[in-house]
Amino acid sequence: MCDEADIANDQVELNRMAAIEACRQRPGIIPKGSCWFCDEGLPLGQKFCDRDCAADFEAEQAAMVRNGRSAGHELSVD
Ligand SMILES: [Zn+2]
Repeated sequence: MCDEADIANDQVELNRMAAIEACRQRPGIIPKGSCWFCDEGLPLGQKFCDRDCAADFEAEQAAMVRNGRSAGHELSVD
């Protein structure tokens, strides 16, 4: 057995995990020609004007998910 083969397999696995992780962080967010947060026009391939908009958008998304879950939970309890 050759150790190099194991190392190569580990590398492939790491790359795959990184790709999955990258998808998980921004589900469904693709460049649409304008900022996802403030709708300002952007060059192709860009999703946000700057890091502030990206951070605000993610905070908003996280809040919506939390609100949605807690609202559904309250309804089912009631
Ligand atoms: Zn923006």
